[in-house]
Amino acid sequence: MEVKSAYIHIPFCVRICTYCDFNKYFIQNQPVDEYLDCLIEEMERSTVRTLQTVFVGGGTPTALNLAQLEKLLLAITKIFNIKGEFSFEANPDELTLEKVKLLKAYGVNRLSMGVQTFKPELLEILGRTHNMQDIYQSVENARKVGIPSISLDLMYHLPSQTMEDFKDSLDKALAMDIDHISSYGLILEPQTQFYNMYRKGKLKLPNEDVGEEMYDYLLHRMERSSMHQYEISNFGKEGHESEHNKVYWRNEGYYGFGAGASGYVDGERYTNVNPVNHYIKKIKSNERPLLRSEFPTKVEQMEEEMFLGLRMNEGVSKQRFYDKFGQTIEDIYGSSLTQLLDQHLIKEENNHLKLTDRGKVVGNLVFESFLLNI
Ligand code: SF4
Repeated sequence: MEVKSAYIHIPFCVRICTYCDFNKYFIQNQPVDEYLDCLIEEMERSTVRTLQTVFVGGGTPTALNLAQLEKLLLAITKIFNIKGEFSFEANPDELTLEKVKLLKAYGVNRLSMGVQTFKPELLEILGRTHNMQDIYQSVENARKVGIPSISLDLMYHLPSQTMEDFKDSLDKALAMDIDHISSYGLILEPQTQFYNMYRKGKLKLPNEDVGEEMYDYLLHRMERSSMHQYEISNFGKEGHESEHNKVYWRNEGYYGFGAGASGYVDGERYTNVNPVNHYIKKIKSNERPLLRSEFPTKVEQMEEEMFLGLRMNEGVSKQRFYDKFGQTIEDIYGSSLTQLLDQHLIKEENNHLKLTDRGKVVGNLVFESFLLNI
């Protein structure tokens, strides 16, 4: 299948958030310009020239200064003919009017902003660099220059976060008439400051039930908004769903460019080397900057098709599954399916299998049922 999407990674941040286990580095003293040269070279080396979706993420792409940002934008738009969605991740305090004008001038049509919460105390706990005013200002800047689609990320199940806090953040985001919201519960990941604090007994997380209640509230509150849910954690107005992320959930191919970036091309799932210096060295010595590569077996592909597809409200197409694998979902998952249908965790509609509301809350349990021990 032709690959029409690309993810481009900028692994730098001006401060490291306490909960973050993403592939990122504190920007100070990093060889940012050298990295950009290598990233551009990796993109030039690829054979793809026309793309439907491009997502520039991180780290934080807006941590780049104006000159670096322009160099990157110029290169991306010179190398690729971007037909559809051109997304950038942004931090509210870094999205100055100058930067957002530049993004707009090079055709960026979607911003995904790492807001997380509007509550100052929680922003502090998370180690974020922005404040509430930055959120309003950055959205205003983006609207002023005419970015057509703005998405905010909001987190729940945070240390010391109450249900009222979460409701308030959600209300504030909705009051801004934003186009899209992604909302994720905090997951405590090893090798984060949060994890160390937790192990030393210095961090208290709300119990699991609170997380489930918050998610439940999110589903019901979003039903009363101008956005519709289209994936477990994602809600958008008509025409504002993330086309790029849907490529992942539909288990389709995409290129990954940059240190630590992953891609899925011609049946190969690959991950580039990390950290930044290793990546630069590989590119400079004219090697493929490869850390890992694997070709998922048919069984693994079927599992991925189920896990990823069930995340979306449209669900997994039974016909598409059959066309791809030559066997029906019932052939492969007969007894698990019957059990999940009986437990009202999944449902069948229009020849698609979908999670029920209850299934969305306990999603991981459902996904486990689709692991094949073959
Ligand atoms: S800005 Fe994003 S990538 Fe950077 S440390 Fe914070 S959460 Fe991680």
